[in-house]
Amino acid sequence: MADTLANPELREAVRADVENRPGVYRMWGPGDELLYVGKSIRVRTRLLSYFRAPRGEKPGDLIRETARIDWDYVPDEFGALVREMRLIQRHRPKYNVQHKRKRAYAFVKITREPAPRVVPAAQVVDDGSTYYGPFPRVGHVAHTIRDISHVLGLRDCPGSTPVVFDDQLDVFDGRETLERSPACLRADLGTCLAPCCGRPRARDYAERVRQARRFLEGRGHAPLTILSERMADAAARRDFEYAALVRDRLERLRRFQEELTGFRGEVDALSFVYRVPGHRGDDRVHLIRGGRLRDTLPHPKSRAARERVAGRVDAVFGAFEPGPGGLSPHEAAEILLVARWFRLRPDELSRTRSPQDWLTAKRPSPTPASSLAPPPVPPLREAAHPPS
Ligand code: SF4
Repeated sequence: MADTLANPELREAVRADVENRPGVYRMWGPGDELLYVGKSIRVRTRLLSYFRAPRGEKPGDLIRETARIDWDYVPDEFGALVREMRLIQRHRPKYNVQHKRKRAYAFVKITREPAPRVVPAAQVVDDGSTYYGPFPRVGHVAHTIRDISHVLGLRDCPGSTPVVFDDQLDVFDGRETLERSPACLRADLGTCLAPCCGRPRARDYAERVRQARRFLEGRGHAPLTILSERMADAAARRDFEYAALVRDRLERLRRFQEELTGFRGEVDALSFVYRVPGHRGDDRVHLIRGGRLRDTLPHPKSRAARERVAGRVDAVFGAFEPGPGGLSPHEAAEILLVARWFRLRPDELSRTRSPQDWLTAKRPSPTPASSLAPPPVPPLREAAHPPS
């Protein structure tokens, strides 16, 4: 049991200084590198438990490598959860696993090109493309995107591949274009309209892109219709193997669309003032807009404090929201974390109020709440940026 005496000075410091309150703690190595970030509703008890952990287990190894510990008291669990995640994402501590995975989120992007592509993206950037997401399952997204492109005949070759449309042949060197061979097998397999060799008319290709867009927005079902027809044809031909293959693809796309539209609704709805009970009456007011925590304030108990919070509510929910351009993976991760918090705890929604309702209830004088109605959170699909 000599192990339990590891780091006795640090243990005494924790015993002397740390209170049993909710909070977030950080464990630092000898070179002042951040080793671990954690949260607990009883920080003292949690920290002392590390000193009892045997060598060879993660908590035991961690405490033996730790040179110092610091902590913040955070009065509520939701606030602690978001703070913990932000610290982990910023510092990527060696011992944290959760929230640290790289490129754990994916977006679907429709490129802004003469022959647009539907492609996976790790990040939303200001490139004029339209983005949908975020999605937590990257591999799943890549698979589904491939299905969409193949069903609708959209290209998925590199953006640098030269493309030309059939109805452009009179402005380009038509003969040269007509002699071009497709640059990949998809043209011959019938899964691509093949603008690389001038096969489709511009408007036909554009129509397929429009169908992809409507599908991703939950407003159209063209890929599902096409697959249903193919499945019926295969069954009529008694080609049951192919019919089963198409059925699986159809199911995958159907689930993807349900997930996509469900999640978008969820994120758009995550805009409110969220009051949570805090440690010993230290209640907090979280301002959440578009699924991201924008500010946290003590619950106001005086008229002056109410005015201060009302000013922040005005500022946070009244500010122009430029859309998803620049939405980083960290911000996407926070949206998913917040969405998950409320999905697992639907009762917590009873603690939320729309900004207008909150202002009406808390502000004694007439409010400019009308300027906040509704707090527009542009859907993540609307990237309204010009091409760079
Ligand atoms: S057939 Fe041509 S346009 Fe289609 S993916 Fe292949 S190279 Fe690209």
